[in-house]
Amino acid sequence: MTSSADVVVVGGGIIGLSTAYYLAKLGYGKVVLVEKEMFLGTGSTGKCAGGVRAQFSTRINIEMSMKSEEMLVQFEEETGWPAVYDQVGYMFLLSDEQELAAFSRAMELQKSLGLEVDLIDPEDVAKIAPPVRTDDIIKATFCGDDGLADPNDLIQGYASAARKHNVDIITECEVTGLKTTGGEIKAVLTKSGEISTPLVVNAAGAYAKLISKMGGMDLQVEPVRRQIVTTGPLDYIPSSFPMVVDVKAGLYFHKESAGLLLGWADKDVQPGFDESVDPEYTDAIIMKALDRVPQLETAEIAKSWAGLYETTPDHHAIIGYAPEIKGFFNNTGYSGHGMMHAPAAGLVAAEIICGKQPSIDVSPLAPDRFAKGAMVEETNVI
Ligand SMILES: Cc1cc2nc3c(=O)[nH]c(=O)nc-3n(C[C@H](O)[C@H](O)[C@H](O)COP(=O)(O)OP(=O)(O)OC[C@H]3O[C@@H](n4cnc5c(N)ncnc54)[C@H](O)[C@@H]3O)c2cc1C
Repeated sequence: MTSSADVVVVGGGIIGLSTAYYLAKLGYGKVVLVEKEMFLGTGSTGKCAGGVRAQFSTRINIEMSMKSEEMLVQFEEETGWPAVYDQVGYMFLLSDEQELAAFSRAMELQKSLGLEVDLIDPEDVAKIAPPVRTDDIIKATFCGDDGLADPNDLIQGYASAARKHNVDIITECEVTGLKTTGGEIKAVLTKSGEISTPLVVNAAGAYAKLISKMGGMDLQVEPVRRQIVTTGPLDYIPSSFPMVVDVKAGLYFHKESAGLLLGWADKDVQPGFDESVDPEYTDAIIMKALDRVPQLETAEIAKSWAGLYETTPDHHAIIGYAPEIKGFFNNTGYSGHGMMHAPAAGLVAAEIICGKQPSIDVSPLAPDRFAKGAMVEETNVI
């Protein structure tokens, strides 16, 4: 195994692969990526719902999404790998004045940054997403540039492009420790041996806190279980069916194969690494979905699975050097929107590491913001 590198990226999910690719593309010497599992993308990335949206409530999240959406459109040109990015749009159903006020405020900010997003009436909801019950909806927001991407395409695309740029991707290589001397990173310890390096990128997703701990650092990223259910074929779902979010219920659903994918963020789930499917959680998703799409009463359940969100206290990513140790860079904590932000996330992290001006000012996402009390709360979280 490689015994030295200019940088070791820990984690072969979408954030680690995007970062490794852009580091190599920008010419940052010898880039090594280590992944503990046998295959790439089997962590949160492989469990994700594929949603891509720029309808956030903070400037930084909107900018990360808009840049990433632009990059997704050019993904094949960039990586040589075709990737599904189906711009069917994202719709947020609003059922009271409070929700309307909050989403109207967010829309103002989104529009000021150039996003094309509209406030639509229940009749329009029924036209765009026919089986959705709208009798208790007062308005909805809709952005047609948002949509759905295939996480596996993105993993394969960044991995193949990274390899073409000579990134050494090593699977079944679990990081077990960090060697530091005088407050500086010296090496990464793995089950397959030691890799000496002056720089580590922590892209371990829901496990990022454990990697930081190996260097004696705390990182405010908690694993939180989230579940998904898919249905069998439904002949009333058009191919143009968008991502629909029922804000009141916390439910989201979009077309998946010939049916629907349904998800719900249970706010009562406590942090932990348990990824088993909880039948009560599955039932709660189905009940919420039946309430919003009554026609689902006769639908068959195809699959259900659970995965981990990598959640920070303010639901924003952590991008930047750890203040405690020289040579330790965090790119993690995407709090349920890491797939959609991965293109920009990898690019800006690589730009910062290479000493270039980042395409987006991600200073609000600095790791020390929690200690400084400078959090940037995202309210549009699902
Ligand atoms: C149910 C669900 C639905 C979601 N829906 C969406 C969505 O619609 N849109 C969206 O944008 N995002 C969504 N997300 C979030 C998204 O999946 C994550 O934000 C994103 O995948 C994070 O990517 P990552 O590379 O940081 O983490 P991961 O994909 O988890 O990759 C981290 C990798 O690090 C590896 N690793 C950990 N510890 C070590 C170690 N010690 N040594 C070596 N390797 C290690 C892991 O094995 C893993 O492969 C969803 C997540 C879930 C669970």
